[in-house]
Amino acid sequence: MLQGSCLCGLVQYEYSGELGPIAMCHCSQCRRAQGSAYATNSPIRVSHFRFVTGQEVVKEFESTPGKKRAFCRECGSPIYSRLDSKPDTLRLRIGSLITPIDVKPSYHIYANSAGEWYEFTDGLPRYAELEDSPLV
Ligand SMILES: [Zn+2]
Ligand SMILES: [Zn+2]
Repeated sequence: MLQGSCLCGLVQYEYSGELGPIAMCHCSQCRRAQGSAYATNSPIRVSHFRFVTGQEVVKEFESTPGKKRAFCRECGSPIYSRLDSKPDTLRLRIGSLITPIDVKPSYHIYANSAGEWYEFTDGLPRYAELEDSPLV
């Protein structure tokens, strides 16, 4: 069982499934939403995710039609994003986990949108856009 929380602690969740491949997403929306070089996300199964506390303070922002980004409305911590077209999946923000994990990031996505100030140094695959796009 994995446990996670927002910064202020109002939102706490549990996840009892497996993490999918961890991607570092450099798209301009993720960069703004995280205030950083990239978001670190893993696809997880909705059916194995539950809020322990704070579901009522989770706000979903529709950043593009059909795509929602969920965050704590008290402290602003991003928790997950989801697509209306993929109702079984959340993209969990790995930085919100409390439980240590032994999985490492697999690749970068939207590398073509990376901030000009960011330098790739980890040698991981860099996809131009999503995982099925060409490498850059
Ligand atoms: Zn919070
Ligand atoms: Zn992104």
